[in-house]
Amino acid sequence: FERNIASPGDLKDLQDADLLIGADGANSVVRRALEAEFAPEFEWLTNRFAWYGTAQLFDCLSLTFRTNEHGSFVAHHYRHSQTMSTFVVECDEATWRRAGLDCMSDEESRVYSQLVFAPDLDGKPLVSNKSIWRQFVLLASRRWFVGNTVLIGDALRTVHFSIGSGTRLAFEDAIALDRAFGEAGDDVPRALAAFERERRPVVEKIIAAANLSSYWYERLPEKMTLEPWQLAYDYMTRSGRMTDERLRELSPKFMARVDAERERVRSVGT
Ligand SMILES: Cc1cc2nc3c(=O)[nH]c(=O)nc-3n(C[C@H](O)[C@H](O)[C@H](O)COP(=O)(O)OP(=O)(O)OC[C@H]3O[C@@H](n4cnc5c(N)ncnc54)[C@H](O)[C@@H]3O)c2cc1C
Repeated sequence: FERNIASPGDLKDLQDADLLIGADGANSVVRRALEAEFAPEFEWLTNRFAWYGTAQLFDCLSLTFRTNEHGSFVAHHYRHSQTMSTFVVECDEATWRRAGLDCMSDEESRVYSQLVFAPDLDGKPLVSNKSIWRQFVLLASRRWFVGNTVLIGDALRTVHFSIGSGTRLAFEDAIALDRAFGEAGDDVPRALAAFERERRPVVEKIIAAANLSSYWYERLPEKMTLEPWQLAYDYMTRSGRMTDERLRELSPKFMARVDAERERVRSVGT
């Protein structure tokens, strides 16, 4: 306890522990200490994103799409406190390079992003907090536990931020692990096996949807050529979990518009 675990080698001191839980995020030291055994798979998305804050308040999670002479941008924004919103700026790699963002300082990038989304920020600045451009990594550990060492949360797998469930899943992992020990008592192998048995099917379903969602963003420039109603429909159905029937129940006005547009396209085509 109360020691900094800076590298996988430091974990050797913990060999006598009854249980070791790696809840240390996507760059997990615990996972890296047993890299060959956990056998994680990594896929780096090509889009770039930078995570900002702003005093501009957005009522709920929403997206804003913008284009300029360099290409296509999307901002994911949502309120995270009474006075501040999160504002994640994302673009495809070609746009990022054409805009010169690969060569800009963090401050220049912030100012550039602020200009792209000026109509949406209502004069409020973007606020940087070590807001560097990053590529999201889709990470999935093939094994969930090795001996008495188990991974949870982002250490185990990442969930693309476009479905906004990474934190919830991490908490649910911890709850499921606690429940497994509640039932198995001190029997660590039994508890860890039960944890994986219960959680893996649920998690894999959500990850499949999240990965499909992330691939949608990877085709952002192509999506920006769609009509607004097509873009909205394409977006809503991107992960394969939303059917027309369900959309009709949730957004009847929107689907009436989609049906009318489809009919119009059909009649023009015949
Ligand atoms: C741009 C972006 C937007 C997102 N938006 C959302 C969203 O809206 N909703 C949502 O649910 N999820 C979102 N996520 C995902 C979410 O952030 C993660 O899924 C979640 O934080 C995972 O929680 P975790 O506890 O597993 O890992 P982390 O939050 O990464 O926590 C790991 C902790 O371990 C600590 N740690 C790491 N290494 C060590 C060490 N060696 N020694 C001691 N401590 C260590 C770290 O300091 C950290 O506190 C987003 C992610 C990104 C990139």
